[in-house]
Amino acid sequence: MNKGCLLVVSAPSGAGKTTLLKRILADTPGIGFSVSHTTRAPRAGEENGVDYHFIDRQEFTRRREADDFLEWAEVHGNFYGTSREAVQQALIRGEDILLDIDVQGARQLKEQTGVEAVFLFIAPPSARVLAQRLHGRGTDSREVIELRLENARREMQEADWYDYLVVNDELSEAEGLLRAIITAERCRRRRRPDGTPLPPFDS
Ligand code: 5GP
Repeated sequence: MNKGCLLVVSAPSGAGKTTLLKRILADTPGIGFSVSHTTRAPRAGEENGVDYHFIDRQEFTRRREADDFLEWAEVHGNFYGTSREAVQQALIRGEDILLDIDVQGARQLKEQTGVEAVFLFIAPPSARVLAQRLHGRGTDSREVIELRLENARREMQEADWYDYLVVNDELSEAEGLLRAIITAERCRRRRRPDGTPLPPFDS
């Protein structure tokens, strides 16, 4: 059994997932982030090896065929994949690890036998708010936003099978809920982060 816990987080783009995860990662000891590989071009401010490992399609195909990815998917016309090795190493070290992946990838993990994970879905409060956020952040063209909204409608239908749902209306409230979920998962006896047994009680 893994000593660490695999925390799989999905959300339609614009739900605030990246901001929320950055806040959690900034000050939660014992939790790491799985840096995915992608064929998407870096956005302004994104750093190779930190936000993603940016690779070309040829390299992605090579890795996929070598079975390097725990899961992979095509999202908004680009490929994304999670490094099997990096996740396994973190879990063996006893670290919890956050995976920011789309619903297709999450479903692959859910259906893979032998992968123990907790599935969290972050939802925007409404389609209208999501559209406003996507236009407001000004990183994508109108066509890309339309594609993202279309995908969001499809992704929202998958929310049902996740273990937890967090609606991100107010950021600090959603952050508090995410922290509570992580704390609760860590308290499950079989998922104690350091693998310690119950406190001595028989002497
Ligand atoms: P973005 O290009 O906006 O950073 O991410 C687009 C979508 O790809 C998001 O839903 C994000 O969660 C997802 N994504 C990022 N990395 C991976 C990955 O390794 N696997 C899968 N399946 N999805 C990913």
